[in-house]
Amino acid sequence: MARPWDKLSDEEWEAICKRCGKCCLHSLQDIDTDEIYHTNVLCRYFDLENSLCTIYDKRCDVVPECLKLTKDNVDKLPFMPKSCAYRRLFDADYEDKPTPSLKNRVVSELNIAAEEIENYIVDWDDL
Ligand code: SF4
Ligand code: SF4
Repeated sequence: MARPWDKLSDEEWEAICKRCGKCCLHSLQDIDTDEIYHTNVLCRYFDLENSLCTIYDKRCDVVPECLKLTKDNVDKLPFMPKSCAYRRLFDADYEDKPTPSLKNRVVSELNIAAEEIENYIVDWDDL
């Protein structure tokens, strides 16, 4: 069955993104409960000054866990932030909240030890 967003052009699809970078924060999933936990640990390739991925065209090659958001998978990714602009397409509870910058709220993955990532779990209202 066709979904409303199937009619969007590639340009319209890309334009939905607010470039907030929240999907570039690492998330953790409890293997027993499937619960998702967000962290304030940011992918090394997100440029906070300009709010963009510095390797956008090859992001999925360079970072295998970087999932490309598409019209087919957009409504099947439970770990996407609840304030992600793409959620307005399918999430009846979506609220278009302001998206404050991540500046001064995050740490780069380059600056933490991987085994300490649980110490960086956050429960932000705007995630
Ligand atoms: S590679 Fe780019 S799009 Fe993927 S998580 Fe990192 S900054 Fe975000
Ligand atoms: S969370 Fe959504 S709106 Fe924000 S950068 Fe990621 S895809 Fe774009």
